[in-house]
Amino acid sequence: MAIPFERDFTAPYDSVVSVAPRICRLLAHNPGPFTFKGTGVTIVGQGHVVVIDPGPDDPHHLAVLRDALKNETVTHILVTHTHRDHSPASRALQQWTGAKIYGFGPHGSGKAEEGIVIEEGGDMEFRPDIAVRDGDVIQARDFSFACVHTPGHTSNHVCYALMEEKALFSGDHVMGWSTTVVAPPDGDMAHYLRSLEKLLERDDEVYWPTHGGPIRDPKAFVKAYLEHRHEREAQILACLRDGVAAIPEMVARIYIGLDPRLRPAASLSVFAHLLQMTKDGRAIARGEPSLAAYFQAARQ
Ligand SMILES: [Zn+2]
Repeated sequence: MAIPFERDFTAPYDSVVSVAPRICRLLAHNPGPFTFKGTGVTIVGQGHVVVIDPGPDDPHHLAVLRDALKNETVTHILVTHTHRDHSPASRALQQWTGAKIYGFGPHGSGKAEEGIVIEEGGDMEFRPDIAVRDGDVIQARDFSFACVHTPGHTSNHVCYALMEEKALFSGDHVMGWSTTVVAPPDGDMAHYLRSLEKLLERDDEVYWPTHGGPIRDPKAFVKAYLEHRHEREAQILACLRDGVAAIPEMVARIYIGLDPRLRPAASLSVFAHLLQMTKDGRAIARGEPSLAAYFQAARQ
């Protein structure tokens, strides 16, 4: 089953575009292999607004953001997760507006209870004023958001559901243009799959990812995403059974025609699957599991 990707999305850079009755977006000029056309900063409401994922700490972007919001009162700043294309502009935005920053916690904080310390790979300075947890409701002036903790892409990833519109701001958890990178140690494939299944129990009608256009049939999309991960796992198991033991060889065999810039991310995704498979007893690592380790199928 193919994931119904939608890659035709276009939006002008650096201008505020209304995309739904309460929702505007501002596309930052930071396109790339992981950001697609760029970070879609979301502005919800009019007059009194909530900003979701303010974007990168880039002087041009900050100037555009400040100008775009000059006639608005920013009441809340919501951050889905602490990658550098999402959270760093929250600090400048707070300085200008005094609005409080909401998020799960510092980079890596979702892994803390497993005793895993994450020291790099994200916006290490991020500290929310309000640490949100799954099920929390954030009351803005004219609307409200439910917080949905969705670890996997990062351990601190949160989606925010605009309750009045059944719209879910899905961050990088579910994106319309690409699958999500799950990079250990902060990324976790088992958590990621659980966080996808969590969305199937909800009744959101549309997802607005931070990169790319909206997803209008979200349940079918999430099911295709899950199916894709199960296929990937089956491909990795087939590699193990054929004696392909090293991650670079698995990537070469599985990801045909891959953009070379994405090879490290693909390696990390394969590693994330292998870590999960070693935990649940389907694969064995020779020595400590790592990107450079050799793996084999467990005897059933
Ligand atoms: Zn991300």
